[in-house]
Amino acid sequence: MTGASDGATSGAASAPPVTFRIASIPGDGVGPEVVAAGRRVLDAAARPWGFALEWQELTVGGAAIDAYGVPIREDDLETCRAADGVYLGAVGGPRWDDPDAAVRPEQALFALRGGLELFANLRPVTVEPALLDASTLRPEVLRGVDVLIVRELTGGIYFGRPSEERRTPEGRVAVDTLWYTEHEIRRVVRLAFELARGRRRRLTSVDKANVLASSRLWRKVVEEVAPEFPDVHVEHRLVDSAAMMLIREPGSFDVLVTENLFGDILSDEAAMLTGSLGMLPSASVGARRTAHGLHGLYEPIHGSAPDIAGQDRANPIAAILSGAMMLRWSLGRADAAGAIEAAVRSALQDGLRTTDLARVGAGDRDVRVLGTRAFTDEVVARLSRSEPTGNATAAGVAAPADDRSTLHAPTATGGDGDDLDADTATMVATNTLLGLP
Ligand code: NAD
Repeated sequence: MTGASDGATSGAASAPPVTFRIASIPGDGVGPEVVAAGRRVLDAAARPWGFALEWQELTVGGAAIDAYGVPIREDDLETCRAADGVYLGAVGGPRWDDPDAAVRPEQALFALRGGLELFANLRPVTVEPALLDASTLRPEVLRGVDVLIVRELTGGIYFGRPSEERRTPEGRVAVDTLWYTEHEIRRVVRLAFELARGRRRRLTSVDKANVLASSRLWRKVVEEVAPEFPDVHVEHRLVDSAAMMLIREPGSFDVLVTENLFGDILSDEAAMLTGSLGMLPSASVGARRTAHGLHGLYEPIHGSAPDIAGQDRANPIAAILSGAMMLRWSLGRADAAGAIEAAVRSALQDGLRTTDLARVGAGDRDVRVLGTRAFTDEVVARLSRSEPTGNATAAGVAAPADDRSTLHAPTATGGDGDDLDADTATMVATNTLLGLP
C-alpha cells in the first residue's frame, strides 16, 4: 500500500480511502484487451468501495522484446516487487515463437515468478450454474464442481538443467532434467494442506511415483507433512488416473496439489470443465507480503490468443475475476471482490455471453453475444448499481443463491462449522502457515 489518500468519500465508511499501487502488464495478443477490461471494472469498484488504484503500466513479453530487446527489464521487475499487486494479461505470440531464439516472451514469466518468489499457482475451478451447458461434459457431472488446483511453480522439469539438444554419433538426442528439492516440495504441499483446511479438508496429491524418483520424493514429503494436518484427509493419485478422474468425477476433488508440469496440464484440462479458457482466473503467491495480504501476480490462465487478438472477441471474465482475486488476496478488499464476482455472475444469468460462450443458452431468457468491451460495459453497469455493504452482496446485482462467491472461490467451512468467505479463509490459513498476523 502506498498509503496516499485520493480523498474519495465512500459508502464503506469504516475503510479509510487508500491508494493501492498496481503493476499492470498488458503483454501481447489479447492481453491488452482483457487487462483494459479488468482495469475498467477494478476502477469502477474503487471509489464506491473506498480505495483508489494507481496503475503502473509496464511493457513486458513480446512487446518488450520489440521495444527493448529483452522480455523484461530489471527496473520493471523492481516495480513489480514494490507494487501492492501485479496484474498481467498474457505474453507471447507467433512472431516471437522461434523456440531456438535467445530471448523469448515466456522468459518474462519465469523472471517474474523467480524474482517475486512466487512458488505456488492457485487455480480455482468452479462451474457457474448459468454455464452448465458450456462444457462438453454433461451438466450432472459438473454440478457443484469446486476444485482448487495448487501447482508448484518454480521447480521441476521447466527449470532443471541440463535442458538441451545434443548431437551424438547415433543422431540428435535431447535431455530435460526433472529436479525437486524437498524444501520446494514441502512449502507448496504445506500451503495446499492449509488451503484444504479452509475448505472441505480433502487433499489429493498427484504424482507419478510408480515411475519417477522425483515423484517418490514428493510422496514421501506429503506423508511427512500430513501428521501436521490430522484433520485433512489426504490421498495420493497417479497423474494418469487424476487426469481421468477430473473428467469422470470432477466433483470428487477438493484441493489438488501437484508439481509444475503435471499442474500445467491438469489445470488446463480442468479449465474445460467451465466451458472456456476465458473463464478461469489465477493467483501466483509465495512467501512475500503486502501491507494487506500476500504479494501476488494475478492473471487469466489463458494465453495471448493470437487467433482472436484485436477483434474485440476475447472473453474478459478470467481477467476480471483475476482482478477480484487480487482485491481479496493482496489488497484485503473481499467486499469489492465479491461485488465484482456478483456483477459477472449477474451478466451471465441475464444471458450475456462472449463469443467463446455463444452457444450456451440462458434457460428461458435470450442469449445476447457481446464483444469484449460491451460485455465489460455490462459488468461495470451492474457493479455501479450495487452498493458497498461489506458482505459482498450487492444491491441491484443478483446474489448467488447461497450468498457466497462461487465464480472463483472455493467453499470454506471454518472449524466451528461457520461458512467463511472462501478466499479470506484461505488468506488467514496462508498467513498462519507463513507465521504472519
Ligand atoms: P491460448 O490460451 O492463447 O489460446 C487457446 C485457444 O483458446 C485459442 O483458440 C484462443 O482463441 C482461445 N482463447 C484463449 N483465451 C481466450 C479468451 N479470453 N476468450 C476467448 N477465447 C480465448 O493458448 P495458445 O494458443 O496455446 O497460446 C498462444 C500464445 O500464448 C503462445 O505464444 C503461448 O506461448 C502464449 N501463452 C501465454 C501464457 C501466459 O502469458 N501466461 C499462457 C499460455 C500461453
